[in-house]
Amino acid sequence: MVTVASVLEWINRIAPWRSAYEGDPVGLQVGSKDSPVRKALVSLDRSDSAASRAAEIGAELWVTHHPLFFRPLARLSPDTEEGRLALFLAQRGMSLVSAHTNWDAARGGVNDTLAELLGLRDVRAFGPSGPSNESKLVVFVPEANVEGLIDALAAAGCGEIGLYRRCAFFGAGTGTFQALEGSNPTVGQVGRVEKLPEIRLEMLVPNERLERAIGALRHAHPYEEPAYDVIPLGDRKPWPIGRIGQLTEPLRLEDLARLANRVLGTRCSTWGSSDRAVRRLAVVGGSGDDLWQDAQRAGADALLTGEVRQHHGLSASESGFALLSAGHYATENPGTRRLCELLADRFPEVEWEFFEPDPGEGGRPVEW
Ligand SMILES: [Zn+2]
Repeated sequence: MVTVASVLEWINRIAPWRSAYEGDPVGLQVGSKDSPVRKALVSLDRSDSAASRAAEIGAELWVTHHPLFFRPLARLSPDTEEGRLALFLAQRGMSLVSAHTNWDAARGGVNDTLAELLGLRDVRAFGPSGPSNESKLVVFVPEANVEGLIDALAAAGCGEIGLYRRCAFFGAGTGTFQALEGSNPTVGQVGRVEKLPEIRLEMLVPNERLERAIGALRHAHPYEEPAYDVIPLGDRKPWPIGRIGQLTEPLRLEDLARLANRVLGTRCSTWGSSDRAVRRLAVVGGSGDDLWQDAQRAGADALLTGEVRQHHGLSASESGFALLSAGHYATENPGTRRLCELLADRFPEVEWEFFEPDPGEGGRPVEW
C-alpha cells in the first residue's frame, strides 16, 4: 500500500528535501505520513480551486510546488488563507506535501524542464544554492566489520548522493591505543600499547540524521569506544538552482522571446536590445531575476525567468545583458506537471491527476 511516507521518501531520492533553500518549508505540511494514498492531486499552487478539485476526486494526498505555510502560524483558524486551507484538508483527512526549491534544483526538475522545452544543449547548473547541511562521518574500524558498518550507517541515512545510496570510501591504515584499567577492549590487553590494522571509513550524513547515525555506529562497531570524527561541510553548496545551456542556433532577443512564447504558452517581456544575439541562455523558473549576475558570470548572454523587477531589468540591460520575463506560472507549471508524470510512473497503483486552473483563475494569468 502506497502511503504519504512512500511518496515523501521517493521525492527525497530524486529531489532531496535537504537541498531546498534554507527556510523553505518543503515536505509534509499537513497530514500524516502513515495515511494510505489511492488518489492524489498535483498542482503548482495551493489555490482554493485546486483544493476543491482534490476534495472532489477524494484525494488523500495533494502535492504542490508552492508550500502552503511559509511563516509560522500563531493560530489555526479560518480567518487566514493558510488556516482555512489547512482546516479544509484536516477535516477531510487529506495530506499536503510541497516540493519547492528542492524540485527547482533537482535533476529533471523545474529548471531542467524549462531548459529542455527551450531546446538548450550542454546544460549545466549555475548559481547559489542552499547552504550545505551535511557532514562527513569518518570512523576507524577493523576490516572484518567494514561492510556491516556501511550497512548500518546506510540504514541510518548515511551515504546518499543523488540517486545513489550506500556511498562510502575506505582505505587501510594502522590504529594504536592503550586500554586503561577498568576497560574491556575487544582486541588486545589492558595496559599494553596495541597496534592494529584498521580501515578509515568515510560517509556523508545529513545533519538532521547525525544523532541516529552515531547511535547506529556505536551499535554496529565492535569496539567499546569507537573512534570517529564528524566534519561539517559548511561551504559545500552542491545544489545550484539555475540552468545554463546553448541554444540550437544563436537567436536575436526578439526571436528568442517568440520561441519562449510558443513553447511556454506565454508572453515574454524583455530587457536589452532586441537585436542582441543570444547563444547561451540561462533559465530560472519563478522569481529568479536576482540571479542575473550569476548567470552573466556563468557565461550566459541572457536569463529567462518568471518575474523581472524593474531595477534588475534596468541594471541588466545597462550592463549589456538581457532578461526575459516569461511569467511565474509559465516557467514553473511545466516542471510541476513533470513531477506529476514521474509520480504516476513510480506509483502506478495511485490515481494521479494534474490540476491546471482555467486562465484567469487559481494563479494562472490570462495572456492577451
Ligand atoms: Zn514559484
